[in-house]
Amino acid sequence: MAMWSPWHGCKRYSDGCKYCYIHKGDARRGIDTSKIVKTDDFYSPILKNKNGEYKIKPNQTVYLCFSTDFLIEEADEWRNECWKMIKERSDLHFLFLTKRIERFSSCIPDDWGEGYDNVTVGCTVENQRNADYRLKIFSQLPIKHKNIICQPLLEKIDIAKYLNGIELAVVGGESDKNARALNYDWVLFIREQCIKSGVSFEFRQCGTHFIKDGKMYTLKTRDLCSQAKKADINVQ
Ligand code: SF4
Repeated sequence: MAMWSPWHGCKRYSDGCKYCYIHKGDARRGIDTSKIVKTDDFYSPILKNKNGEYKIKPNQTVYLCFSTDFLIEEADEWRNECWKMIKERSDLHFLFLTKRIERFSSCIPDDWGEGYDNVTVGCTVENQRNADYRLKIFSQLPIKHKNIICQPLLEKIDIAKYLNGIELAVVGGESDKNARALNYDWVLFIREQCIKSGVSFEFRQCGTHFIKDGKMYTLKTRDLCSQAKKADINVQ
């Protein structure tokens, strides 16, 4: 597993952005998240060591743009260079998540065709309104590997009609002392939809405020992922 952040910064865009961890982390360090800037890592997938080998070893997943959104408008002039590097590194698999899936068609390279084999796109949705808007678009896009990311999940949502062609659906709660609560019934509802459609399912993290069997729990940030894992409800 490797991380690649060719640029940094983002702008709140969606209901799920309220407690964005990038904004919170930057605020602690005095960084203005709304300024989208290229990073020193821009060319990292194609950097080589003195033996002429790529520094990022082959056959691993590269998590792309986890401190921004790969499809953000401010990066339009830089993205094509990234696509070239992604194509050059066909020995790696690149994964990015986006809340801006409606921009996808204007952000792909000329030779995209039916999609690059080594790219997975995760379309993020947090409520029914955004699920209906984004997943309708997502379902029609030429992408070889598609995930749906329901995180932070803010209400009960029905995504059954969008699951065709999806490899994995991920559900998670919101992390913040003022976070909106995650109800375990909503998690199970999405799991049930995935099982019916033969789609893999992962419960990735609880919410800071988590409702189970009608009772509200408040969890520490460090326990959010381990508590979700303990539920043992993932489906392959
Ligand atoms: S799109 Fe993602 S990175 Fe950007 S503000 Fe929203 S949560 Fe943060």
